[in-house]
Amino acid sequence: MSNVLEVKDLQIQFQIDEKYYKAVQGVNFHIGAGETLGLVGESGCGKSVTSMSIMRLLKDPTKVTGEIVYNDRDLLKLTEPQMRRVRGNEIGMIFQEPMTSLNPVHKIGRQIGETLILHRGMTPRQAQREAIEMLKKVGIPRPEQIVDEYPHQLSGGMRQRVMIAIAMACNPTLLIADEPTTALDVTIQAQILELMKKLAKENGTSILLITHDLGVVAEMCDRVAVMYAGRVVEEGPVRKIFHNPQHPYTRGLLNSIPKMTGERKRLEPIEGNVPSLRNMPEGCRFAPRCPFAMDKCVTHNPDLFEVEDGHRSRCFLQEGGR
Ligand code: SF4
Ligand code: MG
Repeated sequence: MSNVLEVKDLQIQFQIDEKYYKAVQGVNFHIGAGETLGLVGESGCGKSVTSMSIMRLLKDPTKVTGEIVYNDRDLLKLTEPQMRRVRGNEIGMIFQEPMTSLNPVHKIGRQIGETLILHRGMTPRQAQREAIEMLKKVGIPRPEQIVDEYPHQLSGGMRQRVMIAIAMACNPTLLIADEPTTALDVTIQAQILELMKKLAKENGTSILLITHDLGVVAEMCDRVAVMYAGRVVEEGPVRKIFHNPQHPYTRGLLNSIPKMTGERKRLEPIEGNVPSLRNMPEGCRFAPRCPFAMDKCVTHNPDLFEVEDGHRSRCFLQEGGR
């Protein structure tokens, strides 16, 4: 399977008080054609900044290095006009809170239409007609009326459907969805995920799905990369990670999911907090919270060790491999 996206040795540094701190360090992952990769972790682990770096939305003085190879081109080397053609046209993006990405003073039809006029060279009339078609596809009732409404007139779930319509308008190769359903209630969440899955399947779109919710990963993803404190700590096929998690952090995350069946299990969140940017542990970044930490964990940073084909864990417990 050819890769649509390959992120290689990504490093993102934030400037705080004249000093640079590594928010993301040595991150590698890839997404195959038509594949959905979940990027999961607690808030502050670097998953959102990673997605923003792919879209080149991080501005100076933030430093981004490494390679972000999208269909054989390194996005970090494109000029801004070249990058504008990629954004919204080849790579679509959906954020958690559609109110912040929809323009409150423009009608829905115009917001979908803008993308079509810009990237697909449609006239405003054609774009309006296509916008109505897109609204139908994302399951919005009365699309002929909705094109003339403003974002605040719609519910959160409907606004997220509009965002999906905008993101899918140009039939992107890759869709980046950052916590797309976190702000929605559970029933609507399930509908939106189902819709994303259906559209992606119909169009062969690859998805990078950023979430802190392992239930969403189980529902949507083929593979998953677990991030902790700016690094990928475990990656592999979803089934393998769920049935045979290796990294103590992943095990902790999985333990903290409430069981849906049987008697209610007490939620066991992992104790302690994600380390701060200014105060990263020198060795394994999970060491201060890890129940298995050994001496060398404090001084040495583990590599990603292969557990089995395509399943890797960044923990000394897996050193020596299979
Ligand atoms: Fe725990 Fe050591 Fe593994 Fe880090 S390397 S997760 S501290 S056992
Ligand atoms: Mg985030």
